[in-house]
Amino acid sequence: MPDKKPLVLIVDDSPLNIQVLGEALRADYRLKVASNGALALQLAADQDAPDLILLDIMMPDLDGYEVCKRLKDNDVTKNIPVIFVTAKNTGEEMTKGFALGAVDYIVKPFYTPVVLARVRTHVNLKLKAELLESLVMRDDLTGIPNRRYFNEAYDTEWKRAQRAGDWLAVIVMDVDHFKDYNDNYGHGLGDVCLRKVATALAFSVARPGDLVARYGGEEFSAILPKTDLVGARDVAERFRAGVEAVRIAHSHSKASAVVTISVGYAAAIPANSLTPPELLGVADRMLYRAKRGGRNCVSGPDL
Ligand code: GH3
Ligand code: MG
Ligand code: MG
Repeated sequence: MPDKKPLVLIVDDSPLNIQVLGEALRADYRLKVASNGALALQLAADQDAPDLILLDIMMPDLDGYEVCKRLKDNDVTKNIPVIFVTAKNTGEEMTKGFALGAVDYIVKPFYTPVVLARVRTHVNLKLKAELLESLVMRDDLTGIPNRRYFNEAYDTEWKRAQRAGDWLAVIVMDVDHFKDYNDNYGHGLGDVCLRKVATALAFSVARPGDLVARYGGEEFSAILPKTDLVGARDVAERFRAGVEAVRIAHSHSKASAVVTISVGYAAAIPANSLTPPELLGVADRMLYRAKRGGRNCVSGPDL
């Protein structure tokens, strides 16, 4: 995929201002424009999200301050840097903008090279922060989300499910007799095996909200929003069958001729009487029941 240019959203109720800013930025950025605050909020939350927003302050209906406040209050848009573009240049006005979460200020009438320099600085900072975030959240060996990512997502999904009164399922998985795999095939092939297992698991989930992570070593975990025990059991079984279907030879496993996993699952409608670690603990106990039950199987609480 060719590298896309960063996307800048210009928000201004004056077509002339949009035109002038657009001409300054067109060569280096993809551009979207909004002539009012409501449209700006909608474009900011779009799948193709802007990397930076140039925001006019004085607009009818929603003014720039209110737009900025709403952008920063929304998890989806809060990390998009906002630069105010305005004729208001008193210290008081600027302080108000920064307090609302803006990263910078451009005072009209502006000098194009200064606009370009400020936009470039903040777009680069934002892209670097994103890169760093993706590196910190991803497991090096398998490329899937790591335990840190899992923990954050679990916390977020727990709160969301609790607010909405939805079911939430967690699954923990562990490769069977993996020590014997390493001992017989070597650590290098062990690593290759873990990559294949991770890929099989990642391809076994169907919903966009489902998350599969490497929890550590040869353990993997999954979060399934809006999923009850029956759904969790189905996905757990899909994980188990998905890994088995890769048919990675393991002639030293007592569970099968190929690499397999044992799976524990649990699900609940989050309530104050239950904590996230407790539900994870249930899934963990179920995993050990699956191990005791002969491995290459799934286990969960009775329905
Ligand atoms: P069980 O069926 O009871 O889970 O047996 P097991 O042998 O899989 O369990 P155990 O916890 O004794 O062994 C896990 C092994 O996983 C030991 C460790 O060397 C290996 N392992 C953990 N992380 C990695 C890794 O990143 N790469 C490789 N190659 N091996 C790893
Ligand atoms: Mg283990
Ligand atoms: Mg194991």
